[in-house]
Amino acid sequence: MGAKVDPSAAFGPTLKVDLPTQLAQLGVKLDQIKYLGLSHNHFDHTGQALSFPKATLLMEAADFAALKSDPLPFAVSATTLQPWVDGTAKAETVRGDHDVFGDASVVMLATPGHTEGEAALLVRLPKTGAVLLSGDVVHFSEQWAKRGVPTFNKSRADTSASMDRLQAMAKELKAILIIQHEPADIAKLPSFPASAQ
Ligand SMILES: [Zn+2]
Repeated sequence: MGAKVDPSAAFGPTLKVDLPTQLAQLGVKLDQIKYLGLSHNHFDHTGQALSFPKATLLMEAADFAALKSDPLPFAVSATTLQPWVDGTAKAETVRGDHDVFGDASVVMLATPGHTEGEAALLVRLPKTGAVLLSGDVVHFSEQWAKRGVPTFNKSRADTSASMDRLQAMAKELKAILIIQHEPADIAKLPSFPASAQ
């Protein structure tokens, strides 16, 4: 049996300062944001998308297709992505790994299992070095240690393979792995805005 994950705990919102406010601290205007890359289609990962209606959405093809299914799959939100779903905003679907800027600085990593199109993110920061953002490949440290797979995941086998891939990459790249639902991991990064450097 895998470690049990309480879905309500996994999806609990903790937003204190929204993205537009944080970007303003960096002097970045919202319409300067070219790409909006999402790890997957669950509502707790899409909530601020409508702040960036001019951005091109980057999402794995299967997860994007699921936004148009009826009924919507578990935890999938279409309303928070409505302009991209109805085609009034631009979306690019991704298959496999995707090097966003062509310089390996930001790479979406095909890590299916939680959803069919789940993507983790490799970011190479100039000062901090390589950082791996888990998406929902793994939700909590305890689950990572025990290789637990939540029952609501799409595929147990794919999730296990994706966790193995992230672990191997973290070792090879000497990357900081940030499990994004894990508060202790968020504390591994310097606080914003230094975390962007
Ligand atoms: Zn999720």
